Amino acid sequence: MVLAQLGGSITRALQQMSNATIIDEKVLNDCLNEITRALLQSDVQFKLVRDMQTNIKKIVNLDDLAAGHNKRKIIQQAVFNELCQILDPGKPAFTPKKGKTSVVMFVGLQGSGKTTTCTKYAFHHQKKGYKPALVCADTFRAGAFDQLKQNATKAKIPFYGSYTESDPVRIAVEGVERFKKENCDLIIVDTSGRHKQEVALFEEMRQVSEATKPDLVIFVMDSSIGQAAFDQAQAFKQSVPVGAVIVTKMDGHAKGGGALSAVAATKSPVIFIGTGEHMDEFEVFDVKPFVSRLLGMGDWSGFMDKIQEVVPMDQQPELLQKLSEGNFTLRIMYEQFQNILKMGPIGQVFSMLPGFSQELMPKGREKESQTKIKRYMTMMDSMTNEGNLFLKLTTKVITELDSSNPKLMNESRIMRIARGCGRPIRDVMEMLEEYKRLAKIWSKMKGLKIPKKGDMSAL
Ligand code: GDP
Repeated sequence: MVLAQLGGSITRALQQMSNATIIDEKVLNDCLNEITRALLQSDVQFKLVRDMQTNIKKIVNLDDLAAGHNKRKIIQQAVFNELCQILDPGKPAFTPKKGKTSVVMFVGLQGSGKTTTCTKYAFHHQKKGYKPALVCADTFRAGAFDQLKQNATKAKIPFYGSYTESDPVRIAVEGVERFKKENCDLIIVDTSGRHKQEVALFEEMRQVSEATKPDLVIFVMDSSIGQAAFDQAQAFKQSVPVGAVIVTKMDGHAKGGGALSAVAATKSPVIFIGTGEHMDEFEVFDVKPFVSRLLGMGDWSGFMDKIQEVVPMDQQPELLQKLSEGNFTLRIMYEQFQNILKMGPIGQVFSMLPGFSQELMPKGREKESQTKIKRYMTMMDSMTNEGNLFLKLTTKVITELDSSNPKLMNESRIMRIARGCGRPIRDVMEMLEEYKRLAKIWSKMKGLKIPKKGDMSAL
């Protein structure tokens, strides 16, 4: 089960629970069992899942909750908190400082994406003004040095390695010394990986670590590793002082639950995720926005960043106000589509908007989604905007686009819109269905305090 599906399953379980008239022990248990099943299918370690279930039950004591308490919200918040808890070991990873030399050592199994990730990490910091350098202490895999050299050259990052020296400790020490002299502030050491855990690999890693005294050891893990994640991460942690985790290949169809297990095993946070083979397919990992996205709650902090980048300053408060009112009209949908088409890269923005991510815009199908949005907008252009009013209240005039009552879009209106834009009736109906789906999600945000950047407590 990929993470998007996991998110979908958890959201569905919570949804089913909220559809129940009374939330009693049975409804809560059904919901938690459903969530447990989804997490296990995503390769999250059994013990973690069991602990999570016990914790939620402890927090959500149905008998203690006074009548009138919003039990659904409390349970949803408990699930959110527990998932965050698993992913947040409570101790931030070491962050390199500009102008002060830091040594960062990368470890992981062969094929996990270690070498690729070293360059991505270097490139990410280079863009932020650091002076990184790469050292290839992988003397086991033929071609490892060439690969690192090629990547480093492309990113214009200095590198060090040898075709003839077979002692990884020596190369690592020489490389680190050299780049210290050259005043590089981020020296990244790539070490050998093997197919499976081997005593020799761990001994070699331990020696490189002892000789170079890294400020941070990063464990690189392929997201498809499955249930083996916990044991493997723990084995690495027992040999070298792992202080952070990077999960790679999150773009694939892998089960991503191993990431949660790796955090638990190493007691170290995930700091980045790899989302593709290219140098810039690399994202900073933040627990709360990630879990928010996973639960279909949207990534407010990322969304706010994007809004601030693209939506003109004077329009921002209005948009946020509309969001918190929870009154989602077709016009708001139209305006959001306009923003989204402007914002790009469309995929990133979409995945941050509550409800927009999975159904409307599956990852990897951005082009099709863009076409679909444009088609929806053409249909909405055929709706009444000014003049041709369809509802007159005593003081207020409401047009089709400004209505938030989908029931008012009756058959004759749908036929007129279809004729107006030259599209089949079923396309108009599809667009209205999409509107209804989004309106339902957004209505839940009514009264919600839109968090400021970095503050997710309102979720
Ligand atoms: P190493 O043996 O651990 O050093 O692994 P490599 O860096 O050589 O990577 C192994 C393969 O995984 C290569 O084909 C990489 O291009 C690919 N790879 C690495 N990271 C990612 C990622 O985030 N997404 C995808 N799709 N492929 C990746």
